[in-house]
Amino acid sequence: MTNIAVIGAGIVGLSSAVAIQRALPNARVTVMADKFTTDTTSDGAGGVFVPYAIDTDRNLIRKWGTEGSRHFYQLAFSEHSKDAGVYLSHGYELSTKPLTEPPPFLDFALSCSRISKEELSRFQPFYVDGYHVVTVIVEGRKYLPWLTARFQEKGGVIETRKIDSLDELEGKYDVVVNCAGLGNQKLTDDKQLKAIRGQILRVYAPWIKFFIHANDNFYFLPSSENAAVGATRQLDRYDVTPDPSDTEEMWKRAVERLPAIKGAKRLWEWVGLRPYRGPPKVVHNYGHGAYGISLSWGTGVHVAEMVDSLLKARPKL
Ligand SMILES: Cc1cc2nc3c(=O)[nH]c(=O)nc-3n(C[C@H](O)[C@H](O)[C@H](O)COP(=O)(O)OP(=O)(O)OC[C@H]3O[C@@H](n4cnc5c(N)ncnc54)[C@H](O)[C@@H]3O)c2cc1C
Repeated sequence: MTNIAVIGAGIVGLSSAVAIQRALPNARVTVMADKFTTDTTSDGAGGVFVPYAIDTDRNLIRKWGTEGSRHFYQLAFSEHSKDAGVYLSHGYELSTKPLTEPPPFLDFALSCSRISKEELSRFQPFYVDGYHVVTVIVEGRKYLPWLTARFQEKGGVIETRKIDSLDELEGKYDVVVNCAGLGNQKLTDDKQLKAIRGQILRVYAPWIKFFIHANDNFYFLPSSENAAVGATRQLDRYDVTPDPSDTEEMWKRAVERLPAIKGAKRLWEWVGLRPYRGPPKVVHNYGHGAYGISLSWGTGVHVAEMVDSLLKARPKL
Protein backbone atom coordinates (compact mmCIF):
# COMPACT_ATOMS: atom_id res chain seq x y z
CA MET A 1 0.00 0.00 0.00
CA THR A 2 1.23 3.53 -0.77
CA ASN A 3 2.24 5.29 2.43
CA ILE A 4 2.15 9.08 2.55
CA ALA A 5 3.20 11.31 5.44
CA VAL A 6 2.03 14.89 5.80
CA ILE A 7 3.98 16.98 8.32
CA GLY A 8 1.78 19.70 9.84
CA ALA A 9 -1.80 19.89 11.03
CA GLY A 10 -2.51 23.53 10.24
CA ILE A 11 -4.92 24.44 7.44
CA VAL A 12 -2.25 23.70 4.81
CA GLY A 13 -1.37 20.23 6.14
CA LEU A 14 -4.96 19.12 6.69
CA SER A 15 -6.10 20.43 3.30
CA SER A 16 -3.23 18.61 1.60
CA ALA A 17 -4.02 15.40 3.49
CA VAL A 18 -7.71 15.45 2.55
CA ALA A 19 -6.91 16.35 -1.07
CA ILE A 20 -4.42 13.45 -1.28
CA GLN A 21 -7.06 11.04 0.07
CA ARG A 22 -9.48 12.22 -2.63
CA ALA A 23 -6.89 11.82 -5.39
CA LEU A 24 -5.48 8.50 -4.10
CA PRO A 25 -8.27 6.69 -2.24
CA ASN A 26 -6.11 3.58 -1.70
CA ALA A 27 -3.19 5.36 -0.07
CA ARG A 28 -2.59 5.33 3.68
CA VAL A 29 -2.16 8.97 4.74
CA THR A 30 -0.66 9.98 8.10
CA VAL A 31 -0.69 13.56 9.40
CA MET A 32 2.04 14.14 11.98
CA ALA A 33 2.39 17.33 13.98
CA ASP A 34 3.38 18.65 17.37
CA LYS A 35 0.52 21.17 17.49
CA PHE A 36 -3.14 20.89 16.56
CA THR A 37 -6.24 23.06 16.18
CA THR A 38 -6.13 25.88 18.79
CA ASP A 39 -2.31 25.80 19.00
CA THR A 40 -1.81 26.49 15.28
CA THR A 41 -1.60 29.80 13.40
CA SER A 42 -4.51 28.65 11.26
CA ASP A 43 -6.88 28.56 14.23
CA GLY A 44 -7.10 32.28 14.96
CA ALA A 45 -6.63 33.98 11.59
CA GLY A 46 -9.17 36.47 10.27
CA GLY A 47 -10.02 33.96 7.57
CA VAL A 48 -11.08 36.09 4.60
CA PHE A 49 -10.63 34.30 1.25
CA VAL A 50 -8.19 36.53 -0.67
CA PRO A 51 -5.96 34.12 -2.63
CA TYR A 52 -2.69 35.86 -3.36
CA ALA A 53 1.04 35.42 -2.77
CA ILE A 54 3.69 38.07 -3.26
CA ASP A 55 6.37 37.29 -5.88
CA THR A 56 4.68 34.09 -6.97
CA ASP A 57 4.09 32.66 -10.45
CA ARG A 58 0.76 34.09 -11.67
CA ASN A 59 -0.26 30.81 -13.26
CA LEU A 60 0.13 29.09 -9.91
CA ILE A 61 -1.92 31.73 -8.11
CA ARG A 62 -4.63 31.31 -10.76
CA LYS A 63 -4.63 27.54 -10.25
CA TRP A 64 -4.69 27.78 -6.45
CA GLY A 65 -7.32 30.53 -6.45
CA THR A 66 -9.57 28.65 -8.87
CA GLU A 67 -9.39 25.37 -6.90
CA GLY A 68 -9.93 27.26 -3.64
CA SER A 69 -12.97 29.14 -5.00
CA ARG A 70 -14.54 25.91 -6.18
CA HIS A 71 -14.02 24.26 -2.79
CA PHE A 72 -14.96 27.12 -0.46
CA TYR A 73 -17.98 28.43 -2.39
CA GLN A 74 -19.34 24.91 -2.69
CA LEU A 75 -18.96 24.45 1.09
CA ALA A 76 -20.49 27.85 1.85
CA PHE A 77 -23.66 26.97 -0.07
CA SER A 78 -23.84 23.41 1.28
CA GLU A 79 -25.35 21.88 4.42
CA HIS A 80 -21.78 21.74 5.83
CA SER A 81 -21.48 25.53 6.02
CA LYS A 82 -22.27 25.84 9.75
CA ASP A 83 -20.09 22.96 11.00
CA ALA A 84 -17.22 23.73 8.64
CA GLY A 85 -17.30 27.43 9.57
CA VAL A 86 -17.25 28.47 5.91
CA TYR A 87 -19.83 31.03 4.87
CA LEU A 88 -20.48 33.84 2.44
CA SER A 89 -19.73 37.32 3.57
CA HIS A 90 -19.94 40.66 1.84
CA GLY A 91 -17.96 43.77 2.47
CA TYR A 92 -15.50 46.35 1.28
CA GLU A 93 -12.04 45.99 -0.14
CA LEU A 94 -10.61 49.48 0.47
CA SER A 95 -7.52 51.26 -0.75
CA THR A 96 -5.57 54.29 0.45
CA LYS A 97 -4.55 54.97 -3.18
CA PRO A 98 -6.55 55.23 -6.42
CA LEU A 99 -6.71 51.82 -8.11
CA THR A 100 -6.19 51.33 -11.84
CA GLU A 101 -7.49 47.78 -11.57
CA PRO A 102 -9.01 45.61 -8.81
CA PRO A 103 -6.52 43.88 -6.47
CA PRO A 104 -5.62 40.51 -8.08
CA PHE A 105 -7.34 38.36 -5.45
CA LEU A 106 -10.69 39.89 -6.39
CA ASP A 107 -10.55 37.73 -9.54
CA PHE A 108 -11.72 34.96 -7.22
CA ALA A 109 -14.52 36.87 -5.47
CA LEU A 110 -18.02 35.61 -6.11
CA SER A 111 -18.92 39.13 -7.14
CA CYS A 112 -17.11 42.43 -7.12
CA SER A 113 -18.07 45.96 -8.16
CA ARG A 114 -16.46 49.40 -7.79
CA ILE A 115 -18.02 51.33 -4.95
CA SER A 116 -19.82 54.56 -5.65
CA LYS A 117 -18.55 57.99 -4.63
CA GLU A 118 -21.40 58.17 -2.12
CA GLU A 119 -20.35 54.87 -0.48
CA LEU A 120 -16.69 55.84 -0.60
CA SER A 121 -17.40 59.10 1.23
CA ARG A 122 -18.26 57.00 4.32
CA PHE A 123 -14.63 55.89 4.51
CA GLN A 124 -12.84 59.15 3.83
CA PRO A 125 -10.29 60.52 4.55
CA PHE A 126 -8.77 57.07 5.10
CA TYR A 127 -9.66 55.37 1.81
CA VAL A 128 -10.01 56.85 -1.66
CA ASP A 129 -10.97 53.80 -3.72
CA GLY A 130 -12.48 50.38 -3.28
CA TYR A 131 -14.69 47.53 -4.31
CA HIS A 132 -17.77 45.93 -2.91
CA VAL A 133 -17.09 42.22 -2.69
CA VAL A 134 -18.82 38.93 -1.97
CA THR A 135 -16.41 36.22 -0.82
CA VAL A 136 -16.14 33.62 1.93
CA ILE A 137 -14.88 33.70 5.48
CA VAL A 138 -13.17 30.52 6.69
CA GLU A 139 -13.31 30.25 10.47
CA GLY A 140 -10.21 28.27 11.47
CA ARG A 141 -11.60 27.29 14.86
CA LYS A 142 -14.39 25.34 13.14
CA TYR A 143 -12.79 24.45 9.83
CA LEU A 144 -9.73 22.63 11.26
CA PRO A 145 -11.79 20.21 13.43
CA TRP A 146 -14.17 19.73 10.49
CA LEU A 147 -11.31 18.90 8.09
CA THR A 148 -9.75 16.59 10.70
CA ALA A 149 -13.04 14.68 10.97
CA ARG A 150 -13.27 14.35 7.15
CA PHE A 151 -9.67 13.07 7.12
CA GLN A 152 -10.23 10.48 9.86
CA GLU A 153 -13.53 9.32 8.40
CA LYS A 154 -11.58 8.24 5.27
CA GLY A 155 -9.07 6.24 7.33
CA GLY A 156 -6.51 9.03 7.84
CA VAL A 157 -4.13 8.56 10.75
CA ILE A 158 -3.09 11.37 13.11
CA GLU A 159 0.21 11.17 15.00
CA THR A 160 1.28 13.65 17.65
CA ARG A 161 4.96 13.91 16.97
CA LYS A 162 7.67 16.53 16.49
CA ILE A 163 9.92 15.83 13.51
CA ASP A 164 13.47 17.03 14.08
CA SER A 165 14.82 15.90 10.73
CA LEU A 166 13.23 14.64 7.50
CA ASP A 167 15.72 11.74 7.73
CA GLU A 168 13.53 10.27 10.51
CA LEU A 169 10.95 9.40 7.85
CA GLU A 170 13.33 7.98 5.27
CA GLY A 171 12.39 4.50 4.07
CA LYS A 172 9.08 4.56 5.95
CA TYR A 173 6.96 6.55 3.49
CA ASP A 174 6.71 6.68 -0.28
CA VAL A 175 6.15 10.44 -0.24
CA VAL A 176 6.56 13.01 2.55
CA VAL A 177 4.61 16.26 2.17
CA ASN A 178 6.10 19.08 4.22
CA CYS A 179 3.40 21.47 5.51
CA ALA A 180 5.25 22.47 8.68
CA GLY A 181 4.86 26.23 8.07
CA LEU A 182 7.21 28.30 10.18
CA GLY A 183 8.56 25.04 11.67
CA ASN A 184 10.77 24.89 8.56
CA GLN A 185 13.11 27.44 10.09
CA LYS A 186 14.42 24.45 12.06
CA LEU A 187 13.15 21.41 10.17
CA THR A 188 14.76 22.29 6.83
CA ASP A 189 16.96 25.16 8.02
CA ASP A 190 15.11 27.47 5.61
CA LYS A 191 16.85 30.82 5.98
CA GLN A 192 14.39 32.61 3.68
CA LEU A 193 11.48 31.80 5.96
CA LYS A 194 10.45 34.56 8.36
CA ALA A 195 7.50 35.26 10.59
CA ILE A 196 5.18 38.15 9.98
CA ARG A 197 3.75 38.59 13.47
CA GLY A 198 0.03 39.28 13.43
CA GLN A 199 -1.98 40.42 16.42
CA ILE A 200 -5.74 40.73 16.28
CA LEU A 201 -8.45 41.74 18.69
CA ARG A 202 -11.69 39.74 18.86
CA VAL A 203 -14.81 41.83 19.53
CA TYR A 204 -18.54 41.24 19.85
CA ALA A 205 -20.37 43.50 17.39
CA PRO A 206 -23.16 41.43 15.83
CA TRP A 207 -24.92 44.53 14.46
CA ILE A 208 -22.16 45.04 11.86
CA LYS A 209 -23.01 42.64 9.03
CA PHE A 210 -20.28 43.48 6.54
CA PHE A 211 -16.51 43.17 6.48
CA ILE A 212 -13.80 45.69 5.75
CA HIS A 213 -10.44 44.55 4.37
CA ALA A 214 -8.11 47.44 3.61
CA ASN A 215 -4.61 47.83 2.21
CA ASP A 216 -3.30 49.64 5.33
CA ASN A 217 -3.58 46.51 7.50
CA PHE A 218 -6.96 47.49 8.94
CA TYR A 219 -9.69 44.92 8.81
CA PHE A 220 -12.94 44.04 10.48
CA LEU A 221 -13.95 40.46 9.72
CA PRO A 222 -17.14 39.13 11.29
CA SER A 223 -17.34 35.40 11.98
CA SER A 224 -20.15 33.32 13.47
CA GLU A 225 -19.61 34.28 17.12
CA ASN A 226 -17.43 37.40 17.09
CA ALA A 227 -15.35 39.55 14.75
CA ALA A 228 -11.64 40.01 14.21
CA VAL A 229 -10.19 43.51 14.26
CA GLY A 230 -6.71 43.57 12.84
CA ALA A 231 -4.01 43.39 12.34
CA THR A 232 -0.33 43.98 12.92
CA ARG A 233 2.24 42.89 10.31
CA GLN A 234 5.63 42.76 12.02
CA LEU A 235 8.33 41.08 9.96
CA ASP A 236 10.82 38.85 11.79
CA ARG A 237 9.17 39.30 15.19
CA TYR A 238 8.48 36.09 17.12
CA ASP A 239 6.91 36.85 20.52
CA VAL A 240 3.38 35.51 20.77
CA THR A 241 2.17 37.31 23.89
CA PRO A 242 -0.30 40.06 22.91
CA ASP A 243 1.23 43.50 23.13
CA PRO A 244 -1.21 45.93 24.86
CA SER A 245 0.12 48.91 22.88
CA ASP A 246 -0.66 47.09 19.59
CA THR A 247 -4.18 46.39 20.84
CA GLU A 248 -4.83 50.02 21.74
CA GLU A 249 -3.44 51.21 18.41
CA MET A 250 -5.63 48.72 16.48
CA TRP A 251 -8.71 49.70 18.45
CA LYS A 252 -8.07 53.42 17.89
CA ARG A 253 -7.70 52.84 14.13
CA ALA A 254 -10.81 50.69 14.06
CA VAL A 255 -12.99 53.32 15.80
CA GLU A 256 -11.69 56.03 13.44
CA ARG A 257 -12.30 54.00 10.29
CA LEU A 258 -15.48 52.24 11.36
CA PRO A 259 -17.26 54.37 14.00
CA ALA A 260 -20.13 51.82 14.12
CA ILE A 261 -17.78 49.56 16.09
CA LYS A 262 -17.62 51.93 19.06
CA GLY A 263 -20.07 50.06 21.33
CA ALA A 264 -18.46 46.67 20.68
CA LYS A 265 -17.41 44.47 23.57
CA ARG A 266 -13.68 43.73 23.47
CA LEU A 267 -13.22 39.99 24.02
CA TRP A 268 -9.61 38.82 23.68
CA GLU A 269 -6.40 39.33 21.75
CA TRP A 270 -4.56 36.71 19.75
CA VAL A 271 -1.15 36.54 18.12
CA GLY A 272 -0.14 34.31 15.22
CA LEU A 273 3.08 34.07 13.23
CA ARG A 274 2.44 34.09 9.49
CA PRO A 275 5.00 31.92 7.66
CA TYR A 276 6.49 34.11 4.93
CA ARG A 277 9.23 33.17 2.45
CA GLY A 278 10.91 36.35 1.35
CA PRO A 279 12.92 37.17 -1.76
CA PRO A 280 15.01 36.13 -3.54
CA LYS A 281 12.79 33.36 -4.85
CA VAL A 282 14.70 30.19 -5.64
CA VAL A 283 13.69 28.09 -8.63
CA HIS A 284 14.98 24.55 -8.09
CA ASN A 285 16.01 22.70 -11.24
CA TYR A 286 17.96 19.63 -10.19
CA GLY A 287 17.59 15.90 -9.57
CA HIS A 288 17.21 14.77 -13.21
CA GLY A 289 19.03 11.48 -12.47
CA ALA A 290 19.67 9.30 -15.53
CA TYR A 291 17.67 11.61 -17.83
CA GLY A 292 19.38 15.00 -17.41
CA ILE A 293 20.54 15.27 -21.03
CA SER A 294 17.10 14.41 -22.29
CA LEU A 295 15.22 16.69 -19.90
CA SER A 296 17.70 19.58 -19.85
CA TRP A 297 16.07 21.69 -22.57
CA GLY A 298 12.49 21.06 -21.52
CA THR A 299 13.13 21.85 -17.88
CA GLY A 300 15.27 24.84 -18.90
CA VAL A 301 12.33 26.31 -20.86
CA HIS A 302 10.03 25.62 -17.91
CA VAL A 303 12.45 27.46 -15.60
CA ALA A 304 12.53 30.44 -17.98
CA GLU A 305 8.72 30.59 -17.90
CA MET A 306 8.72 30.45 -14.12
CA VAL A 307 11.34 33.19 -13.82
CA ASP A 308 9.38 35.41 -16.24
CA SER A 309 6.16 34.82 -14.33
CA LEU A 310 7.84 35.48 -10.98
CA LEU A 311 9.24 38.79 -12.23
CA LYS A 312 5.86 39.85 -13.62
CA ALA A 313 4.18 38.97 -10.32
CA ARG A 314 6.33 41.44 -8.40
CA PRO A 315 4.44 44.38 -6.90
CA LYS A 316 4.76 47.45 -9.18
CA LEU A 317 5.71 49.85 -6.36
C1 LIG B 1 -3.37 37.73 12.54
C2 LIG B 1 -3.43 36.85 11.32
C3 LIG B 1 -4.48 37.00 10.43
C4 LIG B 1 -4.55 36.21 9.27
N1 LIG B 1 -5.61 36.38 8.42
C5 LIG B 1 -5.68 35.66 7.27
C6 LIG B 1 -6.78 35.82 6.38
O1 LIG B 1 -7.71 36.60 6.64
N2 LIG B 1 -6.79 35.09 5.22
C7 LIG B 1 -5.77 34.22 4.92
O2 LIG B 1 -5.82 33.60 3.84
N3 LIG B 1 -4.72 34.02 5.77
C8 LIG B 1 -4.65 34.73 6.92
N4 LIG B 1 -3.60 34.55 7.77
C9 LIG B 1 -2.49 33.66 7.37
C10 LIG B 1 -2.79 32.21 7.73
O3 LIG B 1 -3.26 32.12 9.05
C11 LIG B 1 -1.52 31.36 7.60
O4 LIG B 1 -0.89 31.59 6.35
C12 LIG B 1 -1.89 29.90 7.69
O5 LIG B 1 -2.61 29.63 8.87
C13 LIG B 1 -0.63 29.02 7.64
O6 LIG B 1 -1.07 27.69 7.79
P1 LIG B 1 -0.04 26.51 7.95
O7 LIG B 1 -0.84 25.25 7.98
O8 LIG B 1 1.05 26.66 6.97
O9 LIG B 1 0.69 26.76 9.37
P2 LIG B 1 0.23 26.50 10.86
O10 LIG B 1 -1.21 26.74 11.09
O11 LIG B 1 1.19 27.28 11.69
O12 LIG B 1 0.51 24.96 11.07
C14 LIG B 1 1.81 24.45 11.06
C15 LIG B 1 1.74 22.98 11.49
O13 LIG B 1 3.03 22.40 11.34
C16 LIG B 1 3.36 21.70 12.52
N5 LIG B 1 4.81 21.63 12.66
C17 LIG B 1 5.72 22.63 12.50
N6 LIG B 1 6.95 22.16 12.68
C18 LIG B 1 6.83 20.83 12.98
C19 LIG B 1 7.77 19.79 13.30
N7 LIG B 1 9.09 20.02 13.31
N8 LIG B 1 7.30 18.56 13.56
C20 LIG B 1 5.95 18.30 13.53
N9 LIG B 1 5.03 19.27 13.25
C21 LIG B 1 5.47 20.50 12.97
C22 LIG B 1 2.70 22.49 13.63
O14 LIG B 1 2.59 21.71 14.80
C23 LIG B 1 1.36 22.79 12.96
O15 LIG B 1 0.51 21.67 13.10
C24 LIG B 1 -3.53 35.28 8.98
C25 LIG B 1 -2.51 35.09 9.90
C26 LIG B 1 -2.45 35.86 11.06
C27 LIG B 1 -1.34 35.64 12.04
